[in-house]
Amino acid sequence: MSRRIEISEVGPRDGLQIERNFVPTEQKIALIDALSKTGLSKIEITGFAHPKVIPQLADAETVAAGIRRAPGIRYGAFVPNARGAERAVAAGIDDLKIGVAVSDSFNRLNVRMTTEQGMQAIDEIARVARGTQSRIVGGIATAFGCPYEGPVSRERMHRMLAQLLELGAPIVYLADTTGVANPDRIRRTVEDLRAAFPQAELGLHLHNTRGIGIANALAGLDCGIKHFEGSIGGLGGCPFAPRAVGNICTEDFVHMAHEMGIETGIDLDALIAVARQAQEILGRPLPGMVMKSGKASELHAMDAARVKVD
Ligand code: ZN
Repeated sequence: MSRRIEISEVGPRDGLQIERNFVPTEQKIALIDALSKTGLSKIEITGFAHPKVIPQLADAETVAAGIRRAPGIRYGAFVPNARGAERAVAAGIDDLKIGVAVSDSFNRLNVRMTTEQGMQAIDEIARVARGTQSRIVGGIATAFGCPYEGPVSRERMHRMLAQLLELGAPIVYLADTTGVANPDRIRRTVEDLRAAFPQAELGLHLHNTRGIGIANALAGLDCGIKHFEGSIGGLGGCPFAPRAVGNICTEDFVHMAHEMGIETGIDLDALIAVARQAQEILGRPLPGMVMKSGKASELHAMDAARVKVD
């Protein structure tokens, strides 16, 4: 297990994109600026899909121009095609996050392309990024199973990973887009890909759809995975995943890591404050637990405890 991990915050993109009501641009910017002060080193701030496909992120350029960029942080954005890549590069995005689903059915719904067409689009995105300040970061969606097709092709996943590595993706995130993974499947998939691609730097992007997101992350930690993505407050989900639920909650995961003596470089108290801010912005409680219960290391006054013994 790694003693130091790196967590990328994807709430402003993966989290917000499913919100029905448009979150005002200035509130998105305020959320990202607050996240920039927590010690996070990577924040996915928006996505450059067509505004008709993801209306919530139609203000991508304004968000990218409006945030106060802190030194040492890589600001990323989801990019589905070459047009999106051109927009993201022009907006000064550091990491162009690309994601193609192993499953054809899911990919068709998600970005209206087959997996094959999606991988071609990635070639084009990489071409746009070449010679610019932006780099591509890989994502393989439905890596642990698809809600429409079930198990995904191992052979196809290997081909996708090989292509992403060839294009120079420094990290490739395996995404449990619809939360169908379990710790055992995480372990087997990571070990299989590691054996075939020992040079690959793998990350995990996990959704908590069935309440085992953090357990899956722990399986990843046990396998030595160093890169994880999470959403502040546990917000969000995927608009094309049935009964979408958000990513693992960033501050809950950071809390677990710190309790286990794993360093993240993140100020947990500051992160919890941002999670509360996210609740205020959305006007409803979010799934995150630690912001409600407090840290395990926080001792309670005896008179306030009233421990139930039954
Ligand atoms: Zn996701």
